[in-house]
Amino acid sequence: MSNNKLNMAQTPSTRASGRSKSKTPTRGVRSPSKSKSKTSKDDPQLSQKKSVPKGIYPPPARRSGSTEYDVWFIIDAVLMCTIATAGIIAAVRNNQLLYLIPVSMAEAKLGLIAHEACHGAAPSYLAWLYDCALGSNAQWIFKHNKGHHLHTNSLDDPDLDVSPVLRMHPQHPRRWFHRYQHLYQYILFAVVPVSLRAQGVLYLHANGGWIDILTHWVLAAPATYLYLVWPVLKYGFPTGLKFFFTR
Ligand SMILES: [Zn+2]
Repeated sequence: MSNNKLNMAQTPSTRASGRSKSKTPTRGVRSPSKSKSKTSKDDPQLSQKKSVPKGIYPPPARRSGSTEYDVWFIIDAVLMCTIATAGIIAAVRNNQLLYLIPVSMAEAKLGLIAHEACHGAAPSYLAWLYDCALGSNAQWIFKHNKGHHLHTNSLDDPDLDVSPVLRMHPQHPRRWFHRYQHLYQYILFAVVPVSLRAQGVLYLHANGGWIDILTHWVLAAPATYLYLVWPVLKYGFPTGLKFFFTR
């Protein structure tokens, strides 16, 4: 039965000569490369839509290297999480922003580890560090892997969306204040965590299911409490926000 079915299915391609053989793939199964080139040529917006993954989390990347480094990634992540947590607790308890220096450094390292995980160079579950640190790994994978790395430094690079506040590309219009952007960019860096947070939440609520949203908020809860809720409860509304914005 199954053999018959198989033969029936194979009939158009296998029964005949090389001519029909070469025709089969285009008639039976739509060639992905052909349809891709059609859409990207005709409608760039459509091709952009096509790059949106079906589920918001791609399958974990298969890594060719051995897992001997995984242990070091995990030790590194645990160490950095400890430093960041201890640092923010010390900063809020003592109302001392200097404690945020090691916090920022640990967070930068955590961001790097999560970045490697999103690229499949570190264990994929470490990508969830983004969610623990108030971002969203789904949004990061979408924007960074599929946006930035496919269009690095071109006008389609989403990382250059800071125009006109910062001029990041020769084709961006030049304004008078760009002369000082090497100075005021550091003030803008303070807004980056807020921006990443907003982008992550908006992306999840637009594209994710309720499990994705719930998972994100459960992971983000400890950091949200330590960086935002606790300081505001302790020092009042405007003063409490400084910990969140300084880190
Ligand atoms: Zn990258």
